[in-house]
Amino acid sequence: CGIVGYAGHEQAAPFLLEGLEKLEYRGYDSAGIAVFSDKVRTVKSQGRLAVLREKVNAAGGVSGTLGIGHTRWATHGAPNDINSHPHSSMSRRITVVHNGIIENYIPLKEELQANGVVFRSETDTEVVAQLFDYLYDGDLVGTLIKVLHRIRGSYALGILCTDYPDTLLAVRKDSPMIIGLGEHENYIASDIPAVLDHTRKYYLLGDNEIALIKADSVELMDMDRKPVHHEVYTVDYDI
Ligand code: GLU
Repeated sequence: CGIVGYAGHEQAAPFLLEGLEKLEYRGYDSAGIAVFSDKVRTVKSQGRLAVLREKVNAAGGVSGTLGIGHTRWATHGAPNDINSHPHSSMSRRITVVHNGIIENYIPLKEELQANGVVFRSETDTEVVAQLFDYLYDGDLVGTLIKVLHRIRGSYALGILCTDYPDTLLAVRKDSPMIIGLGEHENYIASDIPAVLDHTRKYYLLGDNEIALIKADSVELMDMDRKPVHHEVYTVDYDI
């Protein structure tokens, strides 16, 4: 299971697919990517990354310079195409990749369903996308903080919102995530090998720290929206 994300000026899909390959050692049963240009295009599939690549090629590629990718190790919901990540909300405004487990997803799902939200998958993850959209008030970080106060469990999350076409939102708790710092492009990944072809500089994101990532900036804050400052680490070994 792994997560990658890209915010920059180049095409996102090649980075996402290569990055996921570098995270294959973590194990997975399904994979997918979502790329945003005028809308979010998602391609996902049970099986090997080669299957995902074929699907992306068959779709004529997915163009756009902002995107997220995921390899899934199913915990809730069978490994199949529908349960593969990324997951979008009903309106498709919010798209999410997630590693970890949302422990209280059943009561949250029931609450959302009682309010008319229709779910597509059997995953715990879809609750994050649907809850985010349900609580969304135009304030991306504010809404994320509301979501974080409602979900329990472990998570590394990469989030896209169609109202913010240049922003990749990320947060983690008890699940790994680094932020790679490139030249006019920045990345998220579960582990360093996914970004090493592009940069050796990175931040380690702390528990419940939020990252607003754009091509030319990375803003880190805590759950009270206070800025967080991290040392930039440099990878000084070869792999
Ligand atoms: N719990 C989520 C699922 O089953 C994410 C699993 C993972 O970390 O890959 O879809």
